[in-house]
Amino acid sequence: MYSIAIDGPSGSGKSTVAKAVAAKLGFLYVDTGAIYRTVGVFAKRNNIDPHDEETLGANLDKVDIKIRWIDGTQHVFLSDEDVSEEIRLPEMSMYASAVSALGKVRAFLLQMQRDFAKTNNVIMDGRDIGTVVLPDADVKIFMYATSEARAKRRYKELLEKGKEVTYEEVLSDMIERDKNDSSRALAPCKPAEDAIMMDNSEMSLEINIEKVLEIINEKINVAV
Ligand code: C5P
Repeated sequence: MYSIAIDGPSGSGKSTVAKAVAAKLGFLYVDTGAIYRTVGVFAKRNNIDPHDEETLGANLDKVDIKIRWIDGTQHVFLSDEDVSEEIRLPEMSMYASAVSALGKVRAFLLQMQRDFAKTNNVIMDGRDIGTVVLPDADVKIFMYATSEARAKRRYKELLEKGKEVTYEEVLSDMIERDKNDSSRALAPCKPAEDAIMMDNSEMSLEINIEKVLEIINEKINVAV
């Protein structure tokens, strides 16, 4: 089985690129942020402070997460309820960021992520795929862009979905989440030593997809 790890901060475009590349290669695309977001939904619904490791840890046995692919799109289920829309609410980003800093949560989700790569050719995106989840991935790419470029993309995306937000809110949210994600002690968002660095601040989506495919083709022999 081949595995491709794409890590990077929020808004770096990694999920859009990974999804497109997975479709071209016929690989399974796994968005790992979605499962952290689902744990966030669980915490919120159960009135658990997302920073409270003891309480959340004691309730993890009740967190039943399943991922299914429907018409090629990843859906995430919490106790058999499809929460794929709910996890995208802007407030769930902060919940996800908080729960993902907890060791018990990370340990709980680790095996689940590794299992996908055991039985499928995968492109997995997240923050620690190349460093922790799949340290032996065949290809590792770390995608990044300036905070302004990333906030602009996220702002456009939210407007298109009809969400009422300002660019300034999106930018400050992004800067705060970057700080949380890169400064935490556990699995911080940082490139693996053998990751290929890709700054896509000035890159169009098409070129970004092409470049990623080129890198993959150099490393592994997959027909595109
Ligand atoms: O990628 P996305 O923005 O959906 O991720 C939501 C949050 O989940 C991130 O802010 C990050 O803190 C966390 N995350 C993580 N490790 C991953 C994927 C996401 O800690 N592999």
